[in-house]
Amino acid sequence: MNAEEASLEDDTPASNIEEVERHVEYEDEGRQFEEKIKEIMVKRAINKVDEGSNVLNRVSGLPVIEMRVLASRFANPEEHEELEAFLIHEFMHARDMMDPEFDYEDAFIPGNPSVKNLITARFRLLWNIYVDARLAKKKIKSVMPKEARYREFDNYYRKIPEEQRRGIFEGLWNTESVTHEELLSMATDLETLISKYIDYTEDFTPEDQEYIHLQGSPCPLCKFPTYNWVDDPASVCDEMVIEAIQIDFPDWESKDGACDRCIEVYELRAGTS
Ligand SMILES: [Zn+2]
Ligand SMILES: [Zn+2]
Repeated sequence: MNAEEASLEDDTPASNIEEVERHVEYEDEGRQFEEKIKEIMVKRAINKVDEGSNVLNRVSGLPVIEMRVLASRFANPEEHEELEAFLIHEFMHARDMMDPEFDYEDAFIPGNPSVKNLITARFRLLWNIYVDARLAKKKIKSVMPKEARYREFDNYYRKIPEEQRRGIFEGLWNTESVTHEELLSMATDLETLISKYIDYTEDFTPEDQEYIHLQGSPCPLCKFPTYNWVDDPASVCDEMVIEAIQIDFPDWESKDGACDRCIEVYELRAGTS
């Protein structure tokens, strides 16, 4: 927001002073980063998913920031505040990528394409939370307010009990610094995410955590990455189905869950469907 607008929206002197201070603070913070940049390229993004930033020549020490932006963002002057928020958010990603402490690497994510996509999506979400949280601390407007980010987080991790889910989100939101590797391992492995931000209690034990079936984790029966879990088959299936499964998998318990296909197979086998 520029000074002219600030005075249009609110002309009390106090808020103007605040506005100016905010601006200076950001510039001080950003100067070191700015001086490292050799070039910034703005390219046209073909769609929303294509939008974002990347840093080329990261290692050579002459970094070029590539910014892909939807052309439509420039079309409507009323949306310029959103454009500004988008650019600041993306520059934060770029700054992380150039920060030796963050230690960004083009990491190989193992697994089949859908597992890879899920891990990538969770990784992006966690990184976005980390970006927006730092901007929020400096009272700089980002692309999404905290509660909207929480709803996104909620969507990916709704199988974690509410209290713990909140705790993890708040932990990440308030984190001082995190590395690329940490974000990636938290996106890959639920236990890493949980143990970093919350303590296990009597109400939520490591055992409870093991019974949380996130999308993309393998079905204990067929071992395939699973997107449609039946979390506790005993609560929805006939006892004969459970028994049929346990004949093949004596150690399996209902709380271990299974994919919906396996459940269907065993329902057929038990003759209950
Ligand atoms: Zn982002
Ligand atoms: Zn299965």
